[in-house]
Amino acid sequence: MRVAVVSDIHANLPALEAVMAAIESEQTNELWCLGDLVGYGAQPDECVARVRDSAAVCLAGNHDLVVAGAIDMSVFAADAGAAARWTVETIRPETLEYLLTLSPSGQRDGVELYHASIRDPVWEYVIDDRTAQYCLERQSSSLALIGHSHVPLVWGYADGRFVGGMAPGDTMLELGEGPFLLNPGSVGQPRDGDPRAAFLILDTTANTATWRRVDYDIGRAQAAIAEAGLPQRLGSRLAEGR
Ligand code: ZN
Repeated sequence: MRVAVVSDIHANLPALEAVMAAIESEQTNELWCLGDLVGYGAQPDECVARVRDSAAVCLAGNHDLVVAGAIDMSVFAADAGAAARWTVETIRPETLEYLLTLSPSGQRDGVELYHASIRDPVWEYVIDDRTAQYCLERQSSSLALIGHSHVPLVWGYADGRFVGGMAPGDTMLELGEGPFLLNPGSVGQPRDGDPRAAFLILDTTANTATWRRVDYDIGRAQAAIAEAGLPQRLGSRLAEGR
């Protein structure tokens, strides 16, 4: 089976559309989403509808849980809080209804899925070797997928040796015995210095993972953010990939 894995879309419709178009040419069987469909960006209804219609499995991210009312909004700093408030005020009832059905962890086809980490599926950032090793030791399957940091990353054990680090576009990994812990990067707000939208192709037959990047119309996403009256920084950072 070939699976397209996406995460951290953050209401960025131009980025999601570009990723969906790129996925079409990848001949995938399923789409998995690791959460944070909303927050920061200006097109939450459209993004949630696209994911709801296409994804075989979808997790809730911390932003989704705040917008759904499961977590108090006071946890967020200025820009994230302003975007969450705007999202709550503007989303359609069916968007909220879908967000309410989602959970921050799950499983599909023997793969463990967490928005953030196995220890804390909602909040923990896995961006260093030590945290990654801790998570890998607690993983019961050979593969786990996480989002949340907005950075494409890979950690795991190859021939018993701990390996890992950033996974820029077109990185291809042969998944041996593992275990492995992978982050596809972010569709709608990449933070690794590459502003292109990120996703991952998982081939469970060939046992490979390939990180992909795709250009999208950043100006269109920025214009939507400006028109919605959201903080300007949420638009400008898209061009920096930070
Ligand atoms: Zn996120």
